[in-house]
Amino acid sequence: MKSIIQITILILFIYPSTISAQEKLNISLDNSCSYYGEKIVDDVYSFNSTDEAEEIVGRIVKIVGLEQNFDIKSANVPNALATIKNGSRLILYSQNFILNIKNATGTDWSGISILAHEIGHHLNGHTIISGGSRPNLELQADKFSGFVAAKLGASLSDAQAAISKFSSKSGSSTHPPKSARLEAIAIGWNQGNSGSKPPSEPEPVRESSNEKENVISNTTTTARIIYTGDNYGCGLPIQITIGNKTFTPNNNSFEVSGIPLGTQKYSIQGQINCPAIGGCSASGQGTLNISENATFYISWQNVSFGQCNIWLQPG
Ligand SMILES: [Zn+2]
Repeated sequence: MKSIIQITILILFIYPSTISAQEKLNISLDNSCSYYGEKIVDDVYSFNSTDEAEEIVGRIVKIVGLEQNFDIKSANVPNALATIKNGSRLILYSQNFILNIKNATGTDWSGISILAHEIGHHLNGHTIISGGSRPNLELQADKFSGFVAAKLGASLSDAQAAISKFSSKSGSSTHPPKSARLEAIAIGWNQGNSGSKPPSEPEPVRESSNEKENVISNTTTTARIIYTGDNYGCGLPIQITIGNKTFTPNNNSFEVSGIPLGTQKYSIQGQINCPAIGGCSASGQGTLNISENATFYISWQNVSFGQCNIWLQPG
């Protein structure tokens, strides 16, 4: 199995499947990641990816149980990056860089792990939050890369080859130091070898700091639940419990009666499904102070692989 993968990888990136006209791209740096954190200064032109690159990306996605819905293109980027363009998940890689790093590291795994890192950004939802690269997001993508490398049969040093060779020892405002990135890959690699699920690191659940006993009052009110939406057409099939009342909002600006007044605990469970960029399972809980005819807004945030926090904010 390993040798088949390696043979496939040997021809990866070398033979373009078709030669096509290049396309100039407007890349938003706000939500893109470049592997070592370089700035993208030139105009970016993209070219068709190789069949082999597509195949490797397909294999990475399959090994974590997902469908391949990325656009992959080679481009004049510093190394590789993940971004969203026109609502689609895009991975750009420099064929030139991949060939160079393969020579420098002596292993095809360096290119694979870079692609896996960029896919890790997409699957962790980093490309839909603004602000670009940040050290903790880079470490999540590195962990994913290590996980995937292990699943595909790489040794730990193979999985770490790309970072070992060129990553900055001291890091930057956007990218962690080399030692932290090597550690993150090792953790992911270990999880991949122990048969566990893809790395996830749920953040602490948001709760009100003023935690009180749940008060079930005799009086109820009608509340309104609103989702102001997102840029990706996401649907939110979720179930909400406030106090002793459980309901499933089936339209936006959802009116629900029988919500107990006063300080109430609430919880939310469900999914967030975004046609262009994938989804996550969503959960959250907290405490709300319910007044007469209260309005609450739904917010959510992707926190790790396939996982989102979701919560209610008083209007
Ligand atoms: Zn990155």
